[in-house]
Amino acid sequence: MRTQKCHGRVIAALVGCTALVLAVTGTASAQPRHHPDLARQTLAANDGWAAYGTGTTGGAAADAAHVHTVTTWDAFKAALAEGGSAPRIIKVKGTIDADGPGCESFAVPGYDFAAYLRTYDPAVWGRTRTLDGEPDDSPEGLRRASAARQDAFVKAIVPANTTIVGVGRNAGFKGASLQIKGVDNVIVRNLTFESPLDCFPQWDPTDTADGNWNSEYDSAVIHGSTHVWIDHDTFTDGEHPDSTLPVYFGRIHQQHDGELDIVKGADHVTASWNVFEDHDKTILIGNSDGAATAAVDRGHLKVTFHHNLFRNLVERAPRVRFGQVDAYNNHFVAGAGYSYSFGIGMESQLVAEHNAFTLPDGVQAGSVLKKWKDAPVTADHNHVNGVPTDLVAVHNAQVPGEILRSGAGWTPSLRTRVDPARAVPGRVDHRAGAGHLR
Ligand code: CA
Ligand code: CA
Repeated sequence: MRTQKCHGRVIAALVGCTALVLAVTGTASAQPRHHPDLARQTLAANDGWAAYGTGTTGGAAADAAHVHTVTTWDAFKAALAEGGSAPRIIKVKGTIDADGPGCESFAVPGYDFAAYLRTYDPAVWGRTRTLDGEPDDSPEGLRRASAARQDAFVKAIVPANTTIVGVGRNAGFKGASLQIKGVDNVIVRNLTFESPLDCFPQWDPTDTADGNWNSEYDSAVIHGSTHVWIDHDTFTDGEHPDSTLPVYFGRIHQQHDGELDIVKGADHVTASWNVFEDHDKTILIGNSDGAATAAVDRGHLKVTFHHNLFRNLVERAPRVRFGQVDAYNNHFVAGAGYSYSFGIGMESQLVAEHNAFTLPDGVQAGSVLKKWKDAPVTADHNHVNGVPTDLVAVHNAQVPGEILRSGAGWTPSLRTRVDPARAVPGRVDHRAGAGHLR
């Protein structure tokens, strides 16, 4: 509480905030260049992969005609749609409801979830064929059509040279899905994203032996885009955690997708000072091992994560394919249902250094890394519950069937200040996420 009260410059002059002010001043080198207008700040030199090459400036150069302040989903989408790729700034005030008046509003005439359950009950339909190819007037066809209407509503297409920034402490979206697709130079800061809920998850009888409900809509997806800086944002399931979702056919009726997915040859991304919390499949970097995807992803998917708080997640923080990913100075706090943090996938080259992990009793340090494919990883100078821990060695000791190779084969150079792992929880816990920037 005291930390929050001390963020304002005037209040900081009051007694009791001196230590905090000194701490903030001492870290100025790791912060973006100061600018009186938050909306015009740009990514600092060397601050992660998004600083590579031309760097990331977003809409900092916007002229007055391309600076918008929005308070509704319609106005936000309109501000994104006009102006082509001219630099633009969109200031978000308050929490914008992006999920519409409710799921019923997206359903097409004839759609009936009870009929869907009756038709595709494994006792009736079986477990060996998918629902692909079901006709348009079938329950699956009506689900598809309804899902298409929700899709068009909740997705917002972000153009090049854009800064989206929250104003004050309480800015953000409920149920939005930002599509940063095929563009360069985007900044997203100081916003809380409460995960979208897919109104129409699809049943796949063939996904695992038990089948699965699969859903769409990441809070944000970086799809084939370059130079993206995601900073001081909060990603959360908020009021709709998985524990509140019903179960059908013995499987959770999953309505969430990812919090931040980075796919299809996306490159040069920095995610700094964010909170990723209360979610299952959190961050996917590269979404397939298949040959077509590999041809697009290989040599790309370069992402830096620093000073993020990863709290109460199940898995994928992140799960990496192909990319050179640098994760340093992050704090991982595991809770009930924790599976793993870093997924080591196809041809990945993860460097995970100077991070802190807080694991509850009963969760072994060896589960921080999860081997999906044989790929090299550097994991040095990390602390688990305050103890220096070689994550690869402890993984290999505790999961002997899945031996990981040490040594990612590259050395990150795009870092600003690196803190010792023991200092990370203290620096990150109360300053990461939305609501701290002014
Ligand atoms: Ca709503
Ligand atoms: Ca996704």
